[in-house]
Amino acid sequence: MPVAWLSAISTSDVDTAGGKGASLGELRDAGLPVPSAFVVTADTYRTFIEEAGIAEELFEATDVDGEDSAALATAEQRARELILDTDLPESVKSDILDAYNDFQNDPFVAVRSSATAEDLPDASFAGQQETFLNVSREDLLERVKRCWASLFTQRAIYYRDEQGFDHEAVDIAVVVQRMVDAEKSGVMFTSHPSTGEPEITVEAAWGLGEAVVSGAVSPDNYTYDREAESVETVTVATKKTMHVKDDETGETIEKSVPDEKQTERVLNDEELASLHRLGELVEDHYDQPQDVEWAIVDGDVFLLQSRPITTIDEQTNGAAPQNGDDSGNSDNSSILVDGLGASPGTATGSVRIVGTLDQLDKVNQGDIIVTEMTTPDMVPAMKRASALVTDEGGMTSHAAIVSRELGVPAVIGSETATQTLTDDQVVSIDGDRGVVADGHRTPADESDTTADSASEPRAGRQGSKPMTATDIKVNVSIPEAAERAAVTGADGVGLLRMEHMVLSTNKTPQQYVEDHGEEAFVNTLTDSMRTVAEEFYPRPVRIRTLDAPTDEFRQLEGGEDEPSEHNPMLGYRGIRRSLAEPETFRLQLEAFRKLYEMGYDSVELMLPLVNDAEDVERAKSLMREAGIDPEKRDWGVMVETPASALCIEGLCETGVDFVSFGTNDLTQYTLAVDRNNGTVADRYDELHPAVMHLLHSTIETCRDYDVATSICGQAASKPRMIRQLVETGITSISVNVDAVADAQREVKRVEQQLILESVRD
Ligand code: PEP
Ligand code: MG
Repeated sequence: MPVAWLSAISTSDVDTAGGKGASLGELRDAGLPVPSAFVVTADTYRTFIEEAGIAEELFEATDVDGEDSAALATAEQRARELILDTDLPESVKSDILDAYNDFQNDPFVAVRSSATAEDLPDASFAGQQETFLNVSREDLLERVKRCWASLFTQRAIYYRDEQGFDHEAVDIAVVVQRMVDAEKSGVMFTSHPSTGEPEITVEAAWGLGEAVVSGAVSPDNYTYDREAESVETVTVATKKTMHVKDDETGETIEKSVPDEKQTERVLNDEELASLHRLGELVEDHYDQPQDVEWAIVDGDVFLLQSRPITTIDEQTNGAAPQNGDDSGNSDNSSILVDGLGASPGTATGSVRIVGTLDQLDKVNQGDIIVTEMTTPDMVPAMKRASALVTDEGGMTSHAAIVSRELGVPAVIGSETATQTLTDDQVVSIDGDRGVVADGHRTPADESDTTADSASEPRAGRQGSKPMTATDIKVNVSIPEAAERAAVTGADGVGLLRMEHMVLSTNKTPQQYVEDHGEEAFVNTLTDSMRTVAEEFYPRPVRIRTLDAPTDEFRQLEGGEDEPSEHNPMLGYRGIRRSLAEPETFRLQLEAFRKLYEMGYDSVELMLPLVNDAEDVERAKSLMREAGIDPEKRDWGVMVETPASALCIEGLCETGVDFVSFGTNDLTQYTLAVDRNNGTVADRYDELHPAVMHLLHSTIETCRDYDVATSICGQAASKPRMIRQLVETGITSISVNVDAVADAQREVKRVEQQLILESVRD
């Protein structure tokens, strides 16, 4: 049969229904409220490619070297053409449409790929195949074929090639499920995700569930005591956005939550009790705690997906303690790997090894991501994770910056974590000390409580912000962190890096423009910049034009055209690239111009990696050409090369309003220590006298010229750096979100000391 209804499917049907289809069938079988669905079976796909005579060409076309990105792109393209351009047999068309008609009233459906990769590691498929939401009858057949074609995306081909799996060994089923027009939705852990205790955790937001699952919105959080059958805690979040179906087009759109609902509690006690009842049933059925996606419409609760919780620690769940020690004071023998403590906090969870072009979907809430190095498209998964461990990278690498910004504990530059640790292994991370230990407790730490720091802005705890003469600002790399950054009470954003906005599109600017046009590129930038500017308005937001080294751009679509450089840190980045590619620079400037036009006069423009006045004069004339009058706007430059510090007089004479120290770069260029190279991390010293000398002399010259000075490198959060720069007269200090409160206190202390000394003198 080309199609099978969920009622006829159970867990043992992975071969025909794929993993997703089989698990939905199982849920329904258990009497749980699952929206009705049928599955276009894997046999249908197989018969289609064989009977249409395209199977041979399909597998030949996709048998390419995974390292050859041009060949991968051609293979994907050819596979798509073969599948999409070949007509479905009439009998299959009518079976699918007849099944659809049984839904009645022509509802919108979700069309989800469900691969049958039973013998292969789970990892090989997660996130690689398509899902389409709100599909109409008219588009259904085409979407089914697009799910099939997604078995041959570049990522999927690459992965199978790398793992030595035969493309022919994998089939794909497609789940067609009635869309639930959720009024509210979210996730539920049927037991505590790390201790396994009988406590339900529910996260809930308005609208469709993707907003919660993808981390686009901070959801309400509820806990429910299963034994006492009562609500334990209620934490209501400010929910600014929601995903809903557009009634006209059927597409999922993001829209603002009406003001009055933003801080309203999403779930009442009764709904929590219903979720509890279903949670008990699901857990009973699987005999294991579950992580469940749910939705509520017209008061009815539906379950959309259920997976086992993989983070529960065996020890606390009653099993015998490993190493004979559960005291929390285990010695260093339980340390598995160590590295740099790059983002503070501790967490316990299951290891998920994530390869480069790989399976981010396998990272569940509370898992610990272990990877060679993070890439920008890992950000959503990092938000779900309770901690991060990398092989590579230093304190100022992408991994370190983003994890700090998201509040996810991280151990960076461990060298061997991806080799030493294994999938599903339960480990504890100490992001302060930089160690990964076996089992549940972090060495020398009993209070394993900060795993959820990502959802709980630390800065939020500071009620009264100390008044300081020196401004304390916050750095933001990803617009998603803007809200968290704004509640710190910082005096503005000292650095918003534009490259992260580009990296998150997964395309180089050139590729993006080629695919979507210049206007779309400008709009992408404007939207991201505006998110932050709006969050902080009227506090100033300093946005830096592009500064991505070529090795970061190389990972993106279109990255194959990036120049190959021996040392990208010394290469084609910052203002030098923008001046060499005025077309792309013009689009960046256009985004600024649009923001000014919209009234965001709080936006300040900052140029990265300048060396001297000539760099700045050239950039200024491009600003004018783009319609930005440097006399009317606040703008400035980064001081992050020794050249810029040594040529500071000339820079001041160009008319800059401010300079900002990028000590991450200034240190690496002054000391000749690659900031991303873990091997020489011990030589990386931002407080080195040579670096300090450049900082002091620059501040002094800028004071003569009445040019404001700031520091936005990582070193800005070091008390010694704060002390020295405040004493020399720096105007503002900009730190990561987790360091704002400490910086405020430290600056206050230093300023008071200075006043005291001046009175005593
Ligand atoms: C710096 O170099 O200190 C800086 C803030 O810029 P980035 O880390 O983006 O190079
Ligand atoms: Mg820099």
